[in-house]
Amino acid sequence: MKTSSNLKSFLLSIDHKGYPAYKSLKGSYQFPGYIFTIDHVQGDPFASPSRVSIDIPAHICRFPAKYYDTLYKKTALCDHLTRLLKKALDRYSFKAKGSGKSGLITISSCGQEILERTACCIHSQKGDLSVHFEIGFPANGRKINAKELSKIFFDFLPACVEQSLIYKNIDQKALKNAIDLSEDQHFIRTMLPKSGLIAFVADGSVLPRKSGISQLPLRSAVPFRSPENYRVSFDLPHHGTISGMGIPKGITLIVGGGYHGKSTLLKALEAGIYDHIANDGREYVITDPTAMKIRAEDGRSIQHTDISMFINHLPNGKNTVSFSTEDASGSTSQAANVVEAMEAGTEVLLIDEDTSATNFMVRDELMQRVVHPDSEPITPFIDRVRGLYENQGISSIIVAGSSGAYFHIADHILQMDQYVPKDITDFAKEQAADFPTNFAASAYSEPAFDRKFLCTASLKKERRLKLKTMGKDSFSLNRDVIELRYIEQIADSEQTTALSYCLLYLEMHIFNGKHTLRQAVDELFTVIEKDGLAAITDSSYVKSGLAMPRRQEVFACVNRYRNLNIEK
Ligand code: ADP
Ligand code: MG
Repeated sequence: MKTSSNLKSFLLSIDHKGYPAYKSLKGSYQFPGYIFTIDHVQGDPFASPSRVSIDIPAHICRFPAKYYDTLYKKTALCDHLTRLLKKALDRYSFKAKGSGKSGLITISSCGQEILERTACCIHSQKGDLSVHFEIGFPANGRKINAKELSKIFFDFLPACVEQSLIYKNIDQKALKNAIDLSEDQHFIRTMLPKSGLIAFVADGSVLPRKSGISQLPLRSAVPFRSPENYRVSFDLPHHGTISGMGIPKGITLIVGGGYHGKSTLLKALEAGIYDHIANDGREYVITDPTAMKIRAEDGRSIQHTDISMFINHLPNGKNTVSFSTEDASGSTSQAANVVEAMEAGTEVLLIDEDTSATNFMVRDELMQRVVHPDSEPITPFIDRVRGLYENQGISSIIVAGSSGAYFHIADHILQMDQYVPKDITDFAKEQAADFPTNFAASAYSEPAFDRKFLCTASLKKERRLKLKTMGKDSFSLNRDVIELRYIEQIADSEQTTALSYCLLYLEMHIFNGKHTLRQAVDELFTVIEKDGLAAITDSSYVKSGLAMPRRQEVFACVNRYRNLNIEK
């Protein structure tokens, strides 16, 4: 293998040359203690920065094996190291000078969630560590500035590795705390189904966020406190005994006056599918990992989805067993969202009246009298929610402050009162008895989930397939935009990027008209679990910048692709 001194002399030999000469640096170099690899070199100083990796053998970084012997601990360890490395790299970013992105040094920026990312991986058996990040190779105009780049390669990076990726040099207590927290979170997650619960919110949790644009905890928040009869305790391996509200399986209704914290509680439950870092306020808010937020999503595309359990006899005579539209209404979009969540294996639906189509949720008695049911295509969710639980085992947590209709069918009714939940099940049921409703839980047949897809013809013809992520909210595949703004549980734009590669991989390698969507997604995740997330990029250099999405979001992403090619 070439050495760091080879790299130094190559570098000096191309100083002041045209920028493309940087391409010749591609390759791996043995540095003292690690291998440095230049995976991809940018085309010019203004293009996306160059991609590099550092591989440190286990006997040098020496992280204790017990910190990476399970996936969740491994994820917590790598998350912690990514944060440390980012801090270190930030201190040197743009310290080397030049035009455009010259001198930029950047790695994935982790938010409040702990996600499995391609930025940092540790080998499960061997303990070798690799990190992937990006550097803007310096130039003056379009001429190579080798002196500045050698500062980065030979001064900055060795210092960053030394400070943040070698076990003996980092704050070991802080790392231990992060790993211990992940064990405690995992413990609660495994206890939920054993205790008949779908979510847990620890006493003392801080649920509201600082602002609509900051995921940091609100400082002056009223801490969470469980109603007495919902309180459960767990003996966590590290934290000791923890108590809080356990939400049982079934149908849970959250009511309360406006501004009393209903949506904030639901948002925290949505986020509880992920582990959160210490001091987030939600680190002990744990939700069933399959839980899916369901909302109205006017304008979305629906492709051959069986929404007949909710919608039938449309005035235009459209088939709702295999329903397609380029521009869904509030109610049809929400119906499709429920059905697609079922297809994705979701066991908990999370619904907020704030983001629901009213006519999808309920129809009141007076309206039923005036508009005859035969003229109403929609079977509202209230007529199905019980069946969903009883037949399919799918629980629901529903925020509904404006209609009492759900009192009749809910198993558990919580009232948010000045940010504190109270159990009002008995009282609400008593009151509801005086208001008989004629909602009808009629029989329905479960959608078949037998859609099979072929590769989209236009993609096959395309010579160059181009993916572009637009923040967390959408990505494009060539000219088509896949809108993910309303897939509210996507936590990070790196998940969106990963989803774009998932869709492309499904299209190019899996959709062959033979697999149902469930089988196709299973196959995709088999590849990911075997070879890692970067394996689905089909590219030797896309190693950084991806974070693991859930299966649920992969389904959601496929279902929003307007060019799906269905096998008829
Ligand atoms: P609702 O859905 O009941 O109308 P929200 O959940 O939207 O109410 O909360 C209303 C406001 O109260 C939000 O600005 C939110 O940040 C704040 N809030 C929510 N929970 C708390 C809390 N525990 N302590 C302090 N403020 C809170
Ligand atoms: Mg609300």
